[in-house]
Amino acid sequence: MSLDKIWLSSPHMGGTERNFVTEAFDTNWVAPLGPNVTGFEKDLEAYQAENTHVAALSSGTAAIHLALIQAGVGPGDEVICQSFTFCGTTNPVQYLGATPIMIDSEEQTWNMCPVALKEAVEDRIAKGKKPKAILAVHLYGMPYKVEEIHAFAKAKQIPVIEDSAESLGSTYKGQKCGTFGDYGILSFNGNKIITTSGGGAMVCPTKVVKDKTIFLATQARDEAPHYQHSELGYNYRLSNISAGIGRGQMEVLDKHIDLRRAMNSFYQELFKDIAGVRVHVEQNAAIFSNHWLSAILVDPSKTGGITREDIRLALEKENIESRPLWKPMHLQPLCKDFPYYGGKICETLFENGLCLPSGSNLTDQDRGRIEKAIKQLFKI
Ligand SMILES: *Cc1c(COP(=O)(O)O)cnc(C)c1O
Repeated sequence: MSLDKIWLSSPHMGGTERNFVTEAFDTNWVAPLGPNVTGFEKDLEAYQAENTHVAALSSGTAAIHLALIQAGVGPGDEVICQSFTFCGTTNPVQYLGATPIMIDSEEQTWNMCPVALKEAVEDRIAKGKKPKAILAVHLYGMPYKVEEIHAFAKAKQIPVIEDSAESLGSTYKGQKCGTFGDYGILSFNGNKIITTSGGGAMVCPTKVVKDKTIFLATQARDEAPHYQHSELGYNYRLSNISAGIGRGQMEVLDKHIDLRRAMNSFYQELFKDIAGVRVHVEQNAAIFSNHWLSAILVDPSKTGGITREDIRLALEKENIESRPLWKPMHLQPLCKDFPYYGGKICETLFENGLCLPSGSNLTDQDRGRIEKAIKQLFKI
């Protein structure tokens, strides 16, 4: 008998999601608008910060697309992008016919390196083209170097699109990720910390930006009794059914963050006496990560030759999912011709890093199986 698969990050319902979905059916709000959509937006606004404005959208990728459009990005423009990320960050730059300028990571947060960022922006400006936006990512829930990145962007007057798809609930100096940028992006895909099955949102600093985002997300329809259009629009609004799931998930978000963080503590404990394996953790007290995914870095010269691939295969044998860290976008065939600034930090992270099961729904039995597989491999 084979044991159930332990997933990296699977949906975890709190229980009340169905009530909101049933209500949508009962009231016939089976459409990309309705009380759940506005209710979910209100919940997110209350959660993020006072005076934020949230537009619920069909995906995080759609939110990035609409942020880039509002930042004025068009064909031939350049956008600074963290290379170490999921393709959902950078694909929308290409949808618009713009060029992603890829930036390396730094070792502490694994996110955009402020030194490489500065080098890139100054070099692009010297070459005659000022980047239209900076796309920075709080990867795996770990806040990037907020102060350095935003101070530099402000000095250069370049808008920041803050990809918080993985970092709902993470904070820097007590302030929620998603509220630092000119545009904040959230995702509620099936594997994220909360899910609407699929969905996303834009956190907007003003009501004007929120209204414009919703306008663009509903085919840019002008005020008129008939269908009148003077701008190119998109069909990117969130469904009222999906938003109902989101409202239920908001009730358990903080509890799920505690549970994800407990998974991270579990790995810190598990690996504390294993030389050559380091768990990715906050480097100082200003940073609070939701630990959406817990990740380790493996140094085979200190583990007696055991690599991250050995760990992955040992877990796979026990029906436990794990996955290498994001492959940097500048190494993807899709993006290999785009300019890149930095060294080999994110490349090295990709070669030696592994994401481990991190879900808020993992049980003591699951943790026991993970622990056993790791201890067997390391013979402890
Ligand atoms: C998930 C994710 C996205 C895209 O969100 P979707 O809702 O899947 O479109 C963008 N950036 C990062 C870093 C992500 O993890």
